[in-house]
Amino acid sequence: MGRNVKRVAILGGGITGLSAAFYLKRQAGERNREVEVTLLEASGRLGGKVNTLRKEGFVIERGPDSFLGRKLPMLHLARDLGLLGELTGTNPQAVKTYLAHNGLKPMPKGINLGIPNNIGLFARTSLISPHGKLRALDEMRIPPREGEEDESVGDFLERRLGREMVERIAEPLLAGIHAGDLYKLSLKATFPEFREMELKYGSVIRGMMEAKRRAPTAGAQAAKARSEAVGGYPIPPTAFLTFRNGLSTVIEALEKRLREDGAEIRLGGEVVRLERSPATEGSGSVYRLILRDGSSVEADSVLFTLPGYAMTPLLAPHMEVGPLGEMEYVSVANVVLAYDEKGFNHRLDGSGFLVPHSEGLTITASTWTSSKWGHTAPADKRLIRCYVGHAGNDADVELSDEEMTARVRRDLKALMGLTAEPRFVEITRLRRGMPQYGVGHSEHVEAFRANLAAALPGVFATGASFDAVGLPDCVRIGKDAADRILSFGQA
Ligand code: FAD
Repeated sequence: MGRNVKRVAILGGGITGLSAAFYLKRQAGERNREVEVTLLEASGRLGGKVNTLRKEGFVIERGPDSFLGRKLPMLHLARDLGLLGELTGTNPQAVKTYLAHNGLKPMPKGINLGIPNNIGLFARTSLISPHGKLRALDEMRIPPREGEEDESVGDFLERRLGREMVERIAEPLLAGIHAGDLYKLSLKATFPEFREMELKYGSVIRGMMEAKRRAPTAGAQAAKARSEAVGGYPIPPTAFLTFRNGLSTVIEALEKRLREDGAEIRLGGEVVRLERSPATEGSGSVYRLILRDGSSVEADSVLFTLPGYAMTPLLAPHMEVGPLGEMEYVSVANVVLAYDEKGFNHRLDGSGFLVPHSEGLTITASTWTSSKWGHTAPADKRLIRCYVGHAGNDADVELSDEEMTARVRRDLKALMGLTAEPRFVEITRLRRGMPQYGVGHSEHVEAFRANLAAALPGVFATGASFDAVGLPDCVRIGKDAADRILSFGQA
């Protein structure tokens, strides 16, 4: 390379790209190395899917609303940015979740992630027929499947627990996380722990019962680990965490730090082509990125953190992208309704509800945001968030604002009896927002990365389309990518 300063271009200003840029600067400093970082973001704002709207005293999340506290990379990032004091947890009173089935019914007890973990309590639920319950409990006698190959989450659960458990319980619970079709989602890439339990205990029910038995100790250990991971700082003990002023807090802090550290951030910097710089053709080390406005950026290393559908067309001229080029994405809309307390005719005595697709409603899930998260609404206001759209139903996402609001309000009335008039409604459409990790996903990613390394040395690819379901994973893979970039070309 001949230069002491490494020029790195990072494509995408979501949480993955920003974390990568932050840790790149930081790790370079620790290793006494110099890097010039240029972050290229197509849109006019940073954050990608993370997008907080602060309006009339409400803190409204247009994308993700929280992150799993037991996954430590986000806590490390909060510590590194001086944000630990901003963390907040869920309201301990708002534990009840409801399931739509002829109105709202409390989620049956004795079930975790759609799998019974307390047989006595599970036997009492009215949501599953007696036949469905017997079939589910038979699971403990079904031998584990032989072989190593991946299968879909739906096939796995139906094979073990029967179809009724999948339709009634597992699908609204698990598919909600990916808005996906359980019969297409890869077990290995989304819920590998189920297969591990099948192999270890001969039964997922037994595995879940064992996990529950160990939960008090595991919970205490996890809380201790969280606090220790950030130098003893007390972290709210709830499973999910966020920041008092919304998730964009972390985006704003990252942007500020990056600018202070001399990184160049280009908004409106949509990359339309990747070229090997002609001047150094053959050296395999210098790249040129062509932007929509005709300008270009030269770099020794390039990190892609774009959604797969935006990344693969840029890489396809140089390499075999394989099945990742045909990956599926699901679109969803996030409909947030803000209310005055006066006239609001529901108690919001829980965290929200889930809707099985078989109910035929427009809403697929709802969070009673102001009940679950105290910081999100002034005391005399209420906030509700509803999801619309799921795998196989992108059409609802394209409803007009008026039609979508009318249908959402119709469902809220049918399920909750809620007739209050909202102060305002905010609709966000996240088109192709949810990457679907199909069967064989992990192997496809591995093959893609091997092809990339061979075709374009010094170019790396990561992001939510590869191996990060949630925000802490995005931070982790961004940091790992920073490490790989710094190590690249070092003897
Ligand atoms: P993105 O945020 O998608 O960022 C990619 C960026 O690349 C974008 O800003 C885009 O504009 C830019 N870009 C695209 N093309 C180009 C180009 N050619 N040139 C330059 N830039 C380009 N996770 C949780 O942990 N908790 C939650 O509660 C949660 N809820 C979610 C709810 C919804 C509705 C969705 C869709 C996701 C949710 N997730 C949640 C997942 C989480 O939001 C994502 O995994 C994460 O935000 C992805 O970050 P990213 O940086 O990898 O990608």
